[in-house]
Amino acid sequence: MPTRADRPRGLAARLWRDYLRPHWPRMGVASALMVIEGSTLAILSWMLKPLFDRVFVGRDEGAIWWVGAAILALFVTRALTYISTRAILTSVQQAVAVAMQGDLLRHMLTLDGAFFQVNPPGALIERVQGDTQAVQGIWTTFITGAGRDAVSLVALFGVAIAIDPWWTLAAAVGVPLLILPTVFVQRYVRRKTRQTRADASLRATRLDEVLHGIAAVRLNRMEEYQSRRFDRIITGIRRRQTKVSAISALIPALIDVVTGLGFVGVLALGGAQVMRGERTIGDFMSFFTALSLAFQPLRRLGGLAGGWQTAAASLERIYAIFDEQPTIRSGPRRTAPDDTTIRLTDVHLAYGAHPVLRGLTFTAEAGQTTALVGPSGAGKSTVFNLLARMADPDRGSVTLGGIPVAEYDLGTLRDQFSTVSQDSALFDETLRENIVLGHDVAPDRLRRAVTAARVADFADALPAGLETPAGPRGSALSGGQRQRIAIARAILRDAPVLLLDEATSALDAASERLVQQALEELSAGRTTLVIAHRLSTIRAADKIVVIEAGRVVEQGTHDQLMAADGTYAALVRLQFGGD
Ligand code: ADP
Repeated sequence: MPTRADRPRGLAARLWRDYLRPHWPRMGVASALMVIEGSTLAILSWMLKPLFDRVFVGRDEGAIWWVGAAILALFVTRALTYISTRAILTSVQQAVAVAMQGDLLRHMLTLDGAFFQVNPPGALIERVQGDTQAVQGIWTTFITGAGRDAVSLVALFGVAIAIDPWWTLAAAVGVPLLILPTVFVQRYVRRKTRQTRADASLRATRLDEVLHGIAAVRLNRMEEYQSRRFDRIITGIRRRQTKVSAISALIPALIDVVTGLGFVGVLALGGAQVMRGERTIGDFMSFFTALSLAFQPLRRLGGLAGGWQTAAASLERIYAIFDEQPTIRSGPRRTAPDDTTIRLTDVHLAYGAHPVLRGLTFTAEAGQTTALVGPSGAGKSTVFNLLARMADPDRGSVTLGGIPVAEYDLGTLRDQFSTVSQDSALFDETLRENIVLGHDVAPDRLRRAVTAARVADFADALPAGLETPAGPRGSALSGGQRQRIAIARAILRDAPVLLLDEATSALDAASERLVQQALEELSAGRTTLVIAHRLSTIRAADKIVVIEAGRVVEQGTHDQLMAADGTYAALVRLQFGGD
């Protein structure tokens, strides 16, 4: 995977180093075949001299056969080289695109929450799919350009010079006309393509948001509004793409004009010489054919400038992601702690200018249940994020078993926690896959977990049982069912610390009891930190930590805090209407 440390400057150099170099032997073979294909055109034009001078003018009938056979051989050679280079280049092109896509995902999975806050899923999907697609074709075009077209051109000009250097000079009279427009087109295409790629990301983001929020869109009657927003984006893309195509065509179009000027130049100079008998008709036909055959490769090479700019705009975006580095890095410690006491000391954290935790200090004893209580937005979930290092504090220490969480290897640290919440991410897979999460789990162990988590209570009633799909983001399940899936996951994970975010949305009494029982069994003997919303949970906790605006305002048992008659007592009276 590309890394920042040893990167060479320049997109082309990086592309070569990271993705193309491993394929150089195959690319070498393809280039060699291209060279053969490229030189066939020059040989063809060269063959026209004997065809005209010996066969037609010299009336040597025997020569018809060998000239004919040679020309046929040339075309068969072209056919064979064409098909082999296509096959080789496509295989390399696919290999490169796939490697790039895999590396992009692997790299993104190492990045922090902050990265995903500024890069929405749609935009990232567009980079992995759209941008790698845009890059994929370009270097094949370059090999084709360099291998076949450039060789064709050099060989054809070789033939032209061999016939007459002065005629060749006359043919090139219009070339200086190309210089300025080429520079202009390159800049224009790069600028516009950058905007188009950014718009393509916006398009993907809109689609992602609208389709994921389809219920909200319908309920709030936002269909028309969302469609109009989308139309604006795609109209912008259409306009810009059209302009880029038209402007890119400027160079091949100018090459047409320049070639036309060249023909006139050669006709003016050479026509008279042939008529005066200084040169043969074969010379002239051969030269003219070389010039005509040079026309197509020249046009294609002219198109390369724009093509490279288009690919470069995408490459910039791909490498911008590879250059992103995670700020949350793994520590060296790979052994689990003996004790799982959690301690936060004077922890400060702000999102931008917005302070969230302001000197938070508390201890959650190993093997006990600690309830975090407080108004919404107080910073309770942020505590969970700090423990699993989804975020790092600006100041203060967070320790697990007396060791700062930053000293653990990230995998080891996260293995210590099981998180259970109602909005645990469910994937569009079967219930079983959502529970085992890619691990090999023996059927009887799975069965025990499914029963203990009360998943069996609803899964067994479904025709497909555990093989029932959970729907996109688990949408086929109710909140309580999703939570029970999360509990089954936690049972299988068997981590020493349980981070529990109680549901805020109401469950019916029956499922609430089931969830509650399953959770009690799960938390027995584990260090449990629970963001509590139910009075029953809070009362059962060994310790209650009351958080307000990022600080601990009170802590103790339910009875102690009620006796103190402070914030907690007020909260209980407000939320639960009494003690
Ligand atoms: P609680 O769990 O107590 O309801 P949270 O810990 O979720 O509160 O959030 C505390 C504060 O942090 C809230 O004001 C919230 O707006 C803010 N916050 C949480 N995550 C982010 C984020 N990624 N970016 C900006 N602000 C955030």
